[in-house]
Amino acid sequence: MLKTRIYLDNAATTKVSDKVLEAMLPYLKEGYGNPSSIYTLGREAAIAVNNARKQVADALGCEENEVYFTSCGSESDNWAIKGTAKLMAAKGKKHIITSVFEHHAVLHPLKALEKEGYEVTYLPVYENGVVKAEDVANAIRPDTALVTIMYANNEIGTIQPIAEIGAICKEKGVIFHTDAVQAIGNVHINVKEQNIDMLSLSGHKIHAQKGCGVLYINKKYRLPNLIDGGAQERNRRAGTENVPAIVGLGVALTEATANIDSKNAKLKPLQDKIYDAVMKIDRVHLNGDRERRMASNLNFSFEGVEGESLLLQLDLQGIAASSGSACTSGSLDPSHVLLSIGLPHEIAHGSLRISMSEYTTEEEVDALLQVLPEIIAKLRSMSPLWEHIIKGETFKIK
Ligand SMILES: *Cc1c(COP(=O)(O)O)cnc(C)c1O
Repeated sequence: MLKTRIYLDNAATTKVSDKVLEAMLPYLKEGYGNPSSIYTLGREAAIAVNNARKQVADALGCEENEVYFTSCGSESDNWAIKGTAKLMAAKGKKHIITSVFEHHAVLHPLKALEKEGYEVTYLPVYENGVVKAEDVANAIRPDTALVTIMYANNEIGTIQPIAEIGAICKEKGVIFHTDAVQAIGNVHINVKEQNIDMLSLSGHKIHAQKGCGVLYINKKYRLPNLIDGGAQERNRRAGTENVPAIVGLGVALTEATANIDSKNAKLKPLQDKIYDAVMKIDRVHLNGDRERRMASNLNFSFEGVEGESLLLQLDLQGIAASSGSACTSGSLDPSHVLLSIGLPHEIAHGSLRISMSEYTTEEEVDALLQVLPEIIAKLRSMSPLWEHIIKGETFKIK
């Protein structure tokens, strides 16, 4: 397999940690029983799943019977949104509030609901990439069924005022869901203290395996099922449990939530170092608020540079990073997140997302900073636009 020397795309996915792999292996080998079977092999698998459920409940500050394992973060988002929509439509509530820069796993289910007659309010995120809690308060109506606002944005890393929004939703009696896929392990989350009714997370963003997620649902609410079939997950989510992945997710989440402060203490200086160095480059812009962002994330736009070319040049140096969102690469449209904070199309195209993990080292950051200015200069020297830009004949970021 090709070796990427330096992996700075942890918002796209992460490597499985040694500890997670070690915990999973017995369930990929001798412990392969079906948790629904009554003999010992099955019962042991069921115990392992329930042990992971307890780990998730402890990490989120909820009860074990409020934790549901799913196949991914996208499924969790779909279930929370479509389930709540159906539940509340029966009570005549068909209005949903969200933000313009949610992940597509939130936006696309909402688009589908709009076609079915639901009404969705998309709140702005302003130039800094942060939703205003007062905007949420002002948008809530008597027929509002759900507020769904992501905890931290996957592209620009900005952190939303989730506890404030939770308090508003509680006061107004509206169900509150947050997609915390990126935030988990980066910020302190307690669903009860922060009045979160539903929360999505995904294993593969926190050093567990791909294809396993969680939806926490406040036990006050009984959502209709998204996947019908067997009686797994207390009759609420059918499908034989992915036991090894669930075991790994439990371990990964325990680790991620226990190590938030030490991880941030390590990453903040690296983030500052990258920021200071990159901002010395001519005509560069930081996307998203400088302070209200995860220590793991930086997102820049370089005028006169094409993001895809930048990624390819970095790849030649063994460095993996991202431009826009991985899900939309291959499409020529700039990311909806970068457009949502007011970037012109041309500038949104020249963006670079750097996302670190606890495994990121200062040597890796130094290696990036050593090649990045040269790559930018080289790409600009080949760009027909660059000459116009420096003469001030075309767009410029304010
Ligand atoms: C990755 C991601 C998802 C999707 O999770 P999957 O497990 O890949 O389906 C949803 N929301 C956000 C914010 C993400 O970063």
